[in-house]
Amino acid sequence: EDIDYKKSQKFAEHMQEKTDAVSEFARKRTLDEQRKFLPIYAIREDLLKIIRENSIIICVGETGSGKTTQMTQYLHESGYTKRGMIGCTQPRRVAAMSVAKRVSEEMQCKLGDEVGYAIRFEDCTSDKTLIKYMTDGILLRESLTDPDLDHYSAVIMDEAHERSLNTDVLFGLLREVVSRRQDLKLIVTSATMDADKFSDFFGNVPIFIIPGRTFPVEPFFSKACVEDYVDAAVKQSIQIHLGAGDGDILVFMPGQEDIEVTCEVIKERLNDLEGAKPLSILPIYSQLPSDLQAKIFQKADDGIRKCVVATNIAETSLTVDGIMYVVDSGYCKLKVYNPRIGMDALQIYPVSQANANQRMGRAGRTGPGQCFRLYTERNYREEMLKTNVPEIQRTNLANVVLLLKSLGIQDLLQFHFMDPPPQDNLMNSMYQLWILGALDNTGSLTQLGRQMVEFPLDPALSQMLITSVEMGCSSEILIIVSMLSVPSIFFRPKGKEEESDAKREKFQVAESDHLTFLHVYIQWKKSGYSNNWCSDHFIHVKAMRKVREVRQQLKDIMDSQKLDVKSCGNWDIVRKCICAAYFHQAARLKGIGEYVNLRTGMPCHLHPTSALFGCGFTPDYIVYHELIMTTKEYMQCVTCVDGHWLAELGPMFFSLKDSLKTRSERARKETSEKLTMEEEMRLAQEKLNRMKEE
Ligand code: ADP
Ligand code: MG
Repeated sequence: EDIDYKKSQKFAEHMQEKTDAVSEFARKRTLDEQRKFLPIYAIREDLLKIIRENSIIICVGETGSGKTTQMTQYLHESGYTKRGMIGCTQPRRVAAMSVAKRVSEEMQCKLGDEVGYAIRFEDCTSDKTLIKYMTDGILLRESLTDPDLDHYSAVIMDEAHERSLNTDVLFGLLREVVSRRQDLKLIVTSATMDADKFSDFFGNVPIFIIPGRTFPVEPFFSKACVEDYVDAAVKQSIQIHLGAGDGDILVFMPGQEDIEVTCEVIKERLNDLEGAKPLSILPIYSQLPSDLQAKIFQKADDGIRKCVVATNIAETSLTVDGIMYVVDSGYCKLKVYNPRIGMDALQIYPVSQANANQRMGRAGRTGPGQCFRLYTERNYREEMLKTNVPEIQRTNLANVVLLLKSLGIQDLLQFHFMDPPPQDNLMNSMYQLWILGALDNTGSLTQLGRQMVEFPLDPALSQMLITSVEMGCSSEILIIVSMLSVPSIFFRPKGKEEESDAKREKFQVAESDHLTFLHVYIQWKKSGYSNNWCSDHFIHVKAMRKVREVRQQLKDIMDSQKLDVKSCGNWDIVRKCICAAYFHQAARLKGIGEYVNLRTGMPCHLHPTSALFGCGFTPDYIVYHELIMTTKEYMQCVTCVDGHWLAELGPMFFSLKDSLKTRSERARKETSEKLTMEEEMRLAQEKLNRMKEE
């Protein structure tokens, strides 16, 4: 209501006639015609020429100009695939899958044949594959076994402006690969105009700009601060729907929960309104099943408006045609290292001005548009950062450290990063790996560390898997790790909350959420992996099938590493093994349902979905898989452990006598340990450097 609506309505009506013609054309065009209509098509030959003449180029173009879907095909059409695959990396899994699907349609082949994709735990490629879309994490892993990337004739690093952690690491590695391999083409694409930095980094390489075809978008700021952005977005979307001319709506929300609520409330309110035109409300976020994801690209039935409610995945990775109105909450979810809890936490933050402008631009693809910003102009100017802080500067780097170390890069401070991570961050990540036994005092990989690299898992999980072999319970831990790698197993449908909770309780193993997972899987296996069994017990069928696939893939890696998969049948041993991997994330009982973190002294709570919650059994010591922060700090996925185990498995932190009674004493000990490790690593490094010089 705060937004000057009359003005916007007139504007929309005025523009309607012009866009009708365009969208009518879009509906009728064949895929081939659509390809030729993209801005990139007009400069196809120039682009291929500059690629021919240079090893590395930076390519800048507005979102939707055809960079991701066309460039791979152009390279293929001009013969590059005769020498190797065309690889195209994406920071997001959803984008990799959806774009591969689109390109396979354009090339009229089956997805997985000439055009395929690979994301963690899902390889949809074959011997035939010429064009491979993948997450940047996958290419990073491939560089472990194929350091020169010999399978590829060209690599497109897409969405470089996102500055994802893996992309930033790949930058440093690929820069070297290209200097070793004259025949490899590297194309770095960005949707924003800040390409100079990329060009500098790769040695002043050419920047190619795809001339855009965008229409003006008019921004409307909120006049007062918005208290509840979900509510404001709902109101705004309904207002557009009821009042404005044709054109689809795109709403940006920070995450899945907000998206679900927004969709639901819009639906409810429209139902309550008599005579409201139908609206096709479509959510999109990374965990949404892919058949539902595909819906956002389909044209709604004639005359029905689409309202897509998305995370920042729709900012630049995916282009939905026909958007004329953008509603921007002004928030996104970011993974940020939180020193208080000593790990990364996914939290909601205001977007940067660069994000806000990208979001606005989505309304100007097929015609002039409008952008309703649910924040004030002052918020925008004075409170938002100009651009995002790259992930490498704000998250835990344990996995990256492990990977780079195993590539033989000893001194990470010397690695050529575009923006180096803060030294503290690097040291904390190394400390974490040292605690897990992956690094020795000199900062070199241990045997355990080398094995951990083989698994596409977080360090604590791969450590748990490898340790379980020694403890004789690897069969059980393999299942638990697989279950932890798949989101939401349990299903809690609206209106059937009690029934589904009751079914869920039957599975619960009172002392452990991890064992509860194990129990579910074993029961499912007993049912013959039955789909009906899943639906009867309110368990996601697809998630369980995925677990089975993940389990198989991890088992293949274990086999190749000669790690035995054996069952011990004793769940106390399984709990002890869980304790061995998570001893650094332990808590002690303080009051009912209330715990304190053993290392930080921070109060934390059992999550209500935990098997230990409200079951009348309150163990003195527990370890947890992760902390999530909402109104309180909640520990998610918890297992009860024996206090003696903590002392035995994490001697650097705990002793039974607890000679280090106070928190400050423990903190001091931790700091001094860290310093010792740093000092030893520094000395080792100096020695190494001297040896190199001699
Ligand atoms: P860019 O990478 O420059 O942002 P893309 O190559 O992703 O551009 O998109 C070009 C066109 O292809 C857009 O008009 C977009 O709508 C269309 N497109 C991309 N992916 C899909 C998909 N999965 N389904 C339908 N259309 C798609
Ligand atoms: Mg793209």
